[in-house]
Amino acid sequence: MIFVNPSSFTLHLPEWLETLVRQTNHPFPTVEARMNFVIELSRLNVRHETGGPFAAAIFRSDDGTLLAPGVNLVLTGRCSVLHAEIVTIIAAQAKAVTYDLSSPELPPYELVTSTEPCAMCLGAVTWSGIRRLVCGARGEDAEETGFDEGEKPPEWPKGLERRGITILRDICRDKAVAVLRDYRASGGIIYNPYRGNAPSMKP
Ligand SMILES: [Zn+2]
Repeated sequence: MIFVNPSSFTLHLPEWLETLVRQTNHPFPTVEARMNFVIELSRLNVRHETGGPFAAAIFRSDDGTLLAPGVNLVLTGRCSVLHAEIVTIIAAQAKAVTYDLSSPELPPYELVTSTEPCAMCLGAVTWSGIRRLVCGARGEDAEETGFDEGEKPPEWPKGLERRGITILRDICRDKAVAVLRDYRASGGIIYNPYRGNAPSMKP
C-alpha cells in the first residue's frame, strides 16, 4: 500500500485482505451479509494496523458477487485521499477495466460502505457508475469519533437519487458504529489535516 516514488504510483491492497477474500465464501446474497463482511473488514483494518476504521466493497447488486473490496489506507499509504470508498472504486474499476461501472455491458454494481461517504467520497461515488449505495454508520457517527466528514449538501441522498443512484442507510449501523467507538477508545489516530486553531473542527 506504499507509493514507491513520486512519479509512479502503485497501490497495493493489504495482504491480509487479499488472503481473506480468497478464503471467504461468495456470493453474499443479502444486503446485511454484504454489510457484515464490510464491517468485519473495517475491524480487521484496525487490528492489522493498515489504516483507519473504515472499509467498503463493490458487489453485483443482483446476485451479491464481490467485485472488489477496499479499506482505508490513509495512514500506511501516507495519502489523504485513500479513504475506503476511493480505494474500493480504484480496485473495482481496475478489475472491471473501465472508468464507468454503469456501462451497459456490465451488471449493476453497488458500493457497500461501513460509514456514509465523506464530502470527497460522495463525489467519487457519484462519478463511479455504481447504481446503489449501501451505508452502515452515519456521517455524524464518524464525526463523533473525531473524523472530519467535510461539507456535504444537506440533501445529498436526494442528489444521489436524482442521478439514478439509490441509497440504503443504517444497515447494521450499530455494529459499524461499534468499530468507530472501539477505535477511538483504543487511542487510534484521527488523521484530519492540521489546521492550526481553526475554530470549526470538533475534537
Ligand atoms: Zn471519504
